[in-house]
Amino acid sequence: MEQRYFQKEIETMPVEELQKLQSEKLVKQVRHVYENVPYYKALMDEKGITPDDVRGIADLHKLPFLTKADLRDAYPYGLLAKPLADCVRIQSTSGTTGRRVVAFYTQKDVDLWEDCCARAIVAAGGTKEDVCQVAYGYGLFTGGPGLNGGSHKVGCLTLPMSSGNTERQIQFMQDLKATILCCTPSYAAYIGETLKEQGCKPEDIPLKAGIFGAEPWTEEMRRGIEETLGIRAYDIYGLTETSGPGVAFECCEQTGMHINEDHFLAEIIDPETGEVLPEGEKGELVFTSLDKEAFPLLRYRTRDICVLSRKKCSCGRTLIKMAKPMGRTDDMLIIRGVNVFPSQIETVLLNEGYQPNYQIIVDRAKNTDTFDVNVEMSPEQFTDKVSDVLKMEKSLANAMKTMLGINPAVHLVAPKSIVRSEGKAVRVIDKRKLV
Ligand code: ADP
Ligand code: ZN
Repeated sequence: MEQRYFQKEIETMPVEELQKLQSEKLVKQVRHVYENVPYYKALMDEKGITPDDVRGIADLHKLPFLTKADLRDAYPYGLLAKPLADCVRIQSTSGTTGRRVVAFYTQKDVDLWEDCCARAIVAAGGTKEDVCQVAYGYGLFTGGPGLNGGSHKVGCLTLPMSSGNTERQIQFMQDLKATILCCTPSYAAYIGETLKEQGCKPEDIPLKAGIFGAEPWTEEMRRGIEETLGIRAYDIYGLTETSGPGVAFECCEQTGMHINEDHFLAEIIDPETGEVLPEGEKGELVFTSLDKEAFPLLRYRTRDICVLSRKKCSCGRTLIKMAKPMGRTDDMLIIRGVNVFPSQIETVLLNEGYQPNYQIIVDRAKNTDTFDVNVEMSPEQFTDKVSDVLKMEKSLANAMKTMLGINPAVHLVAPKSIVRSEGKAVRVIDKRKLV
């Protein structure tokens, strides 16, 4: 089993020592933020908290939360904690759920972020012998630049492909013998599908591992990608607000992602009440950045729903693990009063032998929600016999009803008729305009 680390001392540090380090960093960070960001000072003053009240991580709960609305409010410079002259980089969110947020980085911020990505690459088996194809988007999106920097740090030969141009991705992958692929899971699935169409078998391509993240994906999707590409597929998590990918990464156990706790302090809270929940309970993930200079966030509510675990990991890392986020609080659809996450639909599709190529369309007619799921047939499944299609649709709708508790109208559509994503996939079209 792969047991290598990029920064062994930190990654395997005894928990008590790690927490002591976090406490020291937190005290400094709170002071830095209070003294340099008027926006934070106001939030803390409002709660009656001063930096003197925070003596370690046990006092974390005293601090106010910060939300995406605050970030949008403070756009663009309101949360900046360093003079612009000390910053060297700006990145921005993908804007999946609204107005983009911009984040600033000093050189040290970039450096630590790239270390985090390097840890992820090494945990996936990466060494300086590897050729790392980075097919996340470059530019304002953090995926490309983050993994690119991490790949350099590991000493991999880096192929800065960016996303798109799938034919060229495949050609370079084969000609330049890429061994590690980094991109969104939906793009990895698309590359796999294209390779299969070209008659390529997994053993014909040199890839051994993939580092996929930036969007939710299921275990079933992981198995599909691992099979078509003949690799091990590792999850990576992050968000622009906290730096980008590499906040957490998967190791050889592939049972959740180790959070880089020396830089990011994680909490799980009840999204309704804000109450901190004990380890093992499901809730909203909240991060405090401990080292960031230019754009430090205290108790930032990610809106991602997941579970933390300190269970001992066979890889030797002591860093706490987060489960795959099961969606965002704002990803959750409420359809006819029932909570529906796109990931549940994806699980049903993969269990029933379909590809994860689908789109959920929600609308409202006569004061009732309509709930349609378009699902693509694979070329092998494709049939134009109406009675067969109806039978397949009915059986899929039944499986979804069992999972969700409500009945969708399932429509099977022709192979390749749902637009493929080269970045984050768009799974939901909500036409109800509920604000
Ligand atoms: P946006 O909020 O506009 O999508 P980002 O590009 O910064 O901005 O994306 C960060 C978000 O992407 C996270 O909050 C999370 O919801 C999602 N995400 C990132 N990595 C993963 C992952 N491995 N699994 C599930 N969701 C992820
Ligand atoms: Zn591990």
